[in-house]
Amino acid sequence: LDHDQFVPYFEPQVDLATGEIVGFEMLARWIHPLSGVIGPDVFIPVAEEIGLIGRLSEHVIAEALREAASWDAKVKISVNISPFQLADGWLAQRIVKTLADTGFPAERLVIEITESSLFADIDLARTIVTSLKNQGIRLALDDFGTGFSSLSHLRSLPFDVIKIDRSFVTNINAKRENSAIVRAVTTLANALQVPVCVEGIESEDSYKTVVRLGCEIGQGWYFGKPMPAEQARELLDARERHDEVPRRNAGNRPRRSRSPAREAPAGTRKARRLCVPSRRGRHLPGVRDGARRRSRLRAGFLAGRGDHCRA
Ligand code: C2E
Ligand code: MG
Ligand code: MG
Repeated sequence: LDHDQFVPYFEPQVDLATGEIVGFEMLARWIHPLSGVIGPDVFIPVAEEIGLIGRLSEHVIAEALREAASWDAKVKISVNISPFQLADGWLAQRIVKTLADTGFPAERLVIEITESSLFADIDLARTIVTSLKNQGIRLALDDFGTGFSSLSHLRSLPFDVIKIDRSFVTNINAKRENSAIVRAVTTLANALQVPVCVEGIESEDSYKTVVRLGCEIGQGWYFGKPMPAEQARELLDARERHDEVPRRNAGNRPRRSRSPAREAPAGTRKARRLCVPSRRGRHLPGVRDGARRRSRLRAGFLAGRGDHCRA
């Protein structure tokens, strides 16, 4: 930490109907001088065990928000909060201070929590969540489907988005049960008027399937692997330039690559090769089914009217 070796990487989140980048999930990486890039599954459990998770998390969140403060104001940043952090009564104040220090607007921040974080002390979690929501920060339920998938949690906390775990999505077309579960969660979320974000979209086939099932937002290697801040900025700039093309030169829009993107190491310029579907996604099968209802949900999430799930 003292040597600034923990850095934020950013994974694009896409509006599945339009192909627009609507946000990035910040995922921590340890840039080790000898071992290279180390993933959070290795160091987060250690940081939790030795009581450093709060400091580590604050460090990477502050770094991420400082970087992203100057990006397109429509782009949200989602950050993961560990169950250990949710046991800290000062968490909300710490996050609000980070927002003030970095100049990042509260409305563009999404806090991702998993259900397991709620078990230790649901009342403290509710107090923290309420303070965050009062500041305009949004709340996402991460990895839904893997834990208890409790309906009472869905009802009692004001989630702005439900994230379906990637284990149901990556092989969605290989196992009938996976698509049945994604369909069921999406139907439930629609009924609660909360948009769904699907993780782990790795192929065009999975992409088409989740669109057909009514999911609104998606992320995964098909759209881009986690990348350093500089590449995320380049990707946004490239998208902006790309979007200008059809207006000036309709019909000559470059074809996007179909190969999955690779996790781009720090300091390279691979962002341009990342394949984010263009606005042509609008014409995929199923996008129009219930489109008006879903676009209302999406608009609510994107514009900040996120408290539609309050019990
Ligand atoms: P998560 O929040 O569920 O993050 C999604 C994980 O899925 C990330 O792994 C991401 O790289 C991976 N992923 C995304 N799309 C795909 C895909 O299409 N295919 C496959 N196979 N994998 C995909 P990562 O970066 O290793 O993060 C693992 C977990 O570590 C995260 O799960 C999150 O719970 C935790 N984590 C990451 N950064 C932080 C942090 O700063 N603080 C805390 N407390 N936890 C973090
Ligand atoms: Mg997450
Ligand atoms: Mg997740």
